[in-house]
Amino acid sequence: MGEEKKIKYADVIIDISHEALDRVFQYRVPFSLWEKVETGSCVIVPFGRTNRKRKGYVIALKDQPDYDDQKIKDLDSIDETGLPVERQLIKVAAFLRRQYGGSMSQALRTVMPVRSKVKPRMEGWIDLVLTREEAGPLLKVWEKKHYKARARLLKRLLEEGRVSKSAAVKECGLPLKEIRRLEDKGIWTLTEKIAWRDPFPGLARETRPIVLNEDQERILQDYWDKRKKGQRGVHLLHGVTGSGKTEVYLALIEEVLAAGQQAIVLIPEISLTYQTVRRFYERFGGKIAVIHSRMSKGERYDATERIIRGEADLVIGARSALFAPVKNLGMIIIDEEHDGAYKSETTPKYHARETAIFRAGLAGADLVLGSATPLVETYARALTGEYGLWTLARRAGGALLPESQIVDLREEFKQGNRSIFSQELKAKMVDRLEKKEKIMLFLNRRGYAGFVSCRSCGQVVTCPHCDVSMTYHRDGSLRCHYCGYETPFHKICSVCGSPHVAAFGLGTEKVEAALFREFPGARVLRMDTDTTRKKNAYREILDTFSKGEADILLGTQMIVKGHDFPDVTLVGVLAADLSLFGSDFRSGERTFQLLCQAAGRAGRGDRRGEVVIQTYSPDHYAVKAAAKQSYEDFFREEYSFRRLMNYPPCAHMMMLLIQSDDQETAGLAVGRVEKMIRQSQDKETDPVQLLNPGPARVGKIRDQYRQVVYMKHRDPERLIDLKERLEPVLESHPLFGGILFQFDFDPMSLN
Ligand code: ADP
Ligand code: ZN
Ligand code: ZN
Repeated sequence: MGEEKKIKYADVIIDISHEALDRVFQYRVPFSLWEKVETGSCVIVPFGRTNRKRKGYVIALKDQPDYDDQKIKDLDSIDETGLPVERQLIKVAAFLRRQYGGSMSQALRTVMPVRSKVKPRMEGWIDLVLTREEAGPLLKVWEKKHYKARARLLKRLLEEGRVSKSAAVKECGLPLKEIRRLEDKGIWTLTEKIAWRDPFPGLARETRPIVLNEDQERILQDYWDKRKKGQRGVHLLHGVTGSGKTEVYLALIEEVLAAGQQAIVLIPEISLTYQTVRRFYERFGGKIAVIHSRMSKGERYDATERIIRGEADLVIGARSALFAPVKNLGMIIIDEEHDGAYKSETTPKYHARETAIFRAGLAGADLVLGSATPLVETYARALTGEYGLWTLARRAGGALLPESQIVDLREEFKQGNRSIFSQELKAKMVDRLEKKEKIMLFLNRRGYAGFVSCRSCGQVVTCPHCDVSMTYHRDGSLRCHYCGYETPFHKICSVCGSPHVAAFGLGTEKVEAALFREFPGARVLRMDTDTTRKKNAYREILDTFSKGEADILLGTQMIVKGHDFPDVTLVGVLAADLSLFGSDFRSGERTFQLLCQAAGRAGRGDRRGEVVIQTYSPDHYAVKAAAKQSYEDFFREEYSFRRLMNYPPCAHMMMLLIQSDDQETAGLAVGRVEKMIRQSQDKETDPVQLLNPGPARVGKIRDQYRQVVYMKHRDPERLIDLKERLEPVLESHPLFGGILFQFDFDPMSLN
């Protein structure tokens, strides 16, 4: 075949630590290893001048050497005994790079745990070795000799039996060196162990025995049947809010841990961690490691260390917890799988679901996707049988789904109601306040108001660095939510000089002010990105509300997710339209999700809940289906829309974002890229479709001009192939110097 003449080269990283990821060494692969070596292989290589044998990992294989072939050494051998988890993670990195673009080093950084050099916190205590008979006289001697610190410690040991290291050092005043020296003399012992930082101080384990209901039991049975037959795969757990999905996760995890394996549970964002994690903690206690973005370096270090040492069997966290270095992965659970937070915003812009499918496949583990409102893509795959489908159609406690009502805001306006609250909603709020039942109000917006514009000339105040309007805040400032730019609010228009510049729109602060006006005496809690900036603010607000110390919880998206407040009997959605207006093909889906989730907060206790949806689009299918809590209605309409428009899941999309600090450069680049793509598609009978390349919807962010190219095709591999051919050209072509290219496969929102 002539193949023997070809040579293979392997890029190897020697040490998998974050700092060393960029140091790649190239080796020649001896012919005998050609069949065996692959990306992720652990290999033994000669290293340095002395050719000392070192262990490394193959991150890429090439046909051509990048250096002088004479200077390249041969690989020694393949080490099959290496930690499988590291091989797995390197393969995951290779998957991320290929599917979502970017460099291998970016991909490796994404999957490798940051093992920053944090010292573990030690916990220590001192026990007496001497008998009381021996210690008594010694104490007298020390006191006589004025060894005060030593004597203090010995006295305490005699009184208390055991003294903590910190008390010995700080309270008795004996330096650690002395403690150790006297330990060597056989007077006492100092025992130390790592004190893991407790991410959930004050939580206790609790064994609340829950007997699964018939529907839940059937799911576990199916899991077992499949497992026995050796069938592992992806399962969609579709269950309305409160149907007992979390209990199913807990039961499944118990099976996985009992089989000696580990599980990873992903939760969309920190907003969810507290309440949800509490339930996992109560069931599994110290076996849990939690990973989220707001934890301190020390907490993160501890969590990662405990996973690596096998002390934690259950990892719970946001998106990146997917890469937790667990050794024997048995299951990944993605709760609220439809959530947008599962898509990374930085390169590689991976989706946690697709990546989890890949990782679970490598590990031979199951993947469970749970949601009341699965993404259309996910549900479609479950209908075709690609995923297993588990359904929980009823609320677990027997509580009824809430009764929903749609209020047409145009009618309210016609009838002269200028309030934020419709007659209907207001009447129900008065009723609940009287009955001392709780209310949640949901608004898909933050800040005091939306954009600011001149009523005379229509000029909208925009951020000088981004192509977006500034947002008015009650403290009198205008802020850009893209880059953080802040400026004082001026009533005088900079274009026409009119003194009628004003803020429009509705924000949580404005609703809060209206609540104080229209419901004096009601205790209101506001929860949005502004009030939850501090580390525990989120938890404090929720605690206050669940303790019954407030009547109304007002908030943005973050209040609709997964919180269980049994005495909430009324949920008001103040304006269901704001999410419909995004000009993107997922806006109907997002609106449906938000409305269902919001509605799901009502009536989780023994009283039936009510939902009032205020909207300017009462006839939109997403609003109507949400009011009925009918996923099937929504899916039918949405799927036929996607099929008609050839949007995912009926086709896949690849986005290429082109950024430059120079407007003209960005514009020229998009034209050139378009031409390159069209030329490369010349001979294709079934070419990749291009959707008007041009400026992004937000044409400038942080002074970077942005152009986008969307590519569409039924076959995802065609898009990935195209990217693989395009990427190296874009990176090395002299015409494209200083331009940033970013790919995104199956983007969650259009730019
Ligand atoms: P979901 O995750 O689908 O929103 P949960 O698992 O949180 O649902 O369940 C909703 C409520 O019903 C919780 O308070 C839970 O403790 C309770 N629950 C779930 N399953 C059962 C069961 N089999 N028996 C009794 N209560 C249950
Ligand atoms: Zn003006
Ligand atoms: Zn800005």
